[in-house]
Amino acid sequence: MAAQTHLFKCLSDNFGVLIHDPSTGATASIDAPEAWAVDAALKETGWTLTDILVTHHHGDHTGGVAELKERHGCKVTAPRHEKQPIPAVDATVAEGDTVTVGGLTARVLDTPGHTAGHIAYVFDADKIAFVGDTLFSIGCGRVIEGTPEQMWGSLLKLRALPDDTTIYCGHEYTLANIKFAQTIEPDNAALTARAAEAERQVAAGRPTIPVMLGAEKQSNPFLRADVPAVAAAVKLAGKPAAAVFAEVRERKNRF
Ligand SMILES: [Zn+2]
Repeated sequence: MAAQTHLFKCLSDNFGVLIHDPSTGATASIDAPEAWAVDAALKETGWTLTDILVTHHHGDHTGGVAELKERHGCKVTAPRHEKQPIPAVDATVAEGDTVTVGGLTARVLDTPGHTAGHIAYVFDADKIAFVGDTLFSIGCGRVIEGTPEQMWGSLLKLRALPDDTTIYCGHEYTLANIKFAQTIEPDNAALTARAAEAERQVAAGRPTIPVMLGAEKQSNPFLRADVPAVAAAVKLAGKPAAAVFAEVRERKNRF
């Protein structure tokens, strides 16, 4: 049976999301920004928490882990290569590993850059990817513990997933990201269309995620550092994509 997901907002601009296997009843929380919000989502869905899959160590993704584990006895899976501790971990994983949630299977991708050991969980059978703070809709995470080259490599890994992959990210930053992206590619029709869609979603009080990877590839400048128009926009025509990515990221930091 197909996986079911439930998205909810928490903290100031974080997303929480549950993934549920209807055939076994297993449910994972992807990260745990705050325990009460995950519990409220479990109550709303009637699902029982069996797993927490952590993408990276930041407190706004792990703040609820210990309390949820204490209350639900769930299994906590976390990245193996983080340099900072994550509470209450039962198992660590890295690229090449798989994680099961009941009958669902996720492939782990190492996506360093935002943090040293950041990982993504890709449920291939359902074409769903949980990318934490590596990729956002029309944006990407800040490069805090890694290098721009590492972050670009991580984004390329995600970009290689099928176009019809549903992407869940960690934050609602889409409108601000669009404002910046339009300074890089003001004439990108896919970006213009995404801007209109996101404004409608926000005006209606709806989240702007999940997003389809294929649409992001057409409109997210951080996935487009090897597109000549993007390189030209930052005056790095002909330069390596990683250098273009680094410049786009730096401009976003100052935006
Ligand atoms: Zn983070």
